[in-house]
Amino acid sequence: MQNSWCVLKQAELTTPQKKQLLSQLEAQLTELEQQVIAIHSRGAPVQLDQQAVGRVSRIDAIQQQQMAKANEIQVSHQILRIKQILLDPDEYGFCHECGESIGIGRLTIHPIAELCIQCQGELEHL
Ligand SMILES: [Zn+2]
Repeated sequence: MQNSWCVLKQAELTTPQKKQLLSQLEAQLTELEQQVIAIHSRGAPVQLDQQAVGRVSRIDAIQQQQMAKANEIQVSHQILRIKQILLDPDEYGFCHECGESIGIGRLTIHPIAELCIQCQGELEHL
């Protein structure tokens, strides 16, 4: 199969590059776990029967809570993904779809990338 994107094939990560990325991910994991704790402490239940708080600010509070919830889901996904990487670092840096190296360029910008730029592009253009 001679696809034109073969030209763009990425070099595999070198051991130091991989080590560097993995230690960044470890640090990020700690940070994200702290973020989850922070979201939890902010996300106290909204008092709907509070007379002193106007309707608008109640809606505000609910919206903020929903945003915190959405953020929490996103953060938990990231945590799961990082844990998965750290559990199986041998697989790290390879595309889940085509098995090719994702490449240091992409991983530097997006260290938890599961797909190479080509597969990601195909996915987004479906
Ligand atoms: Zn791929």
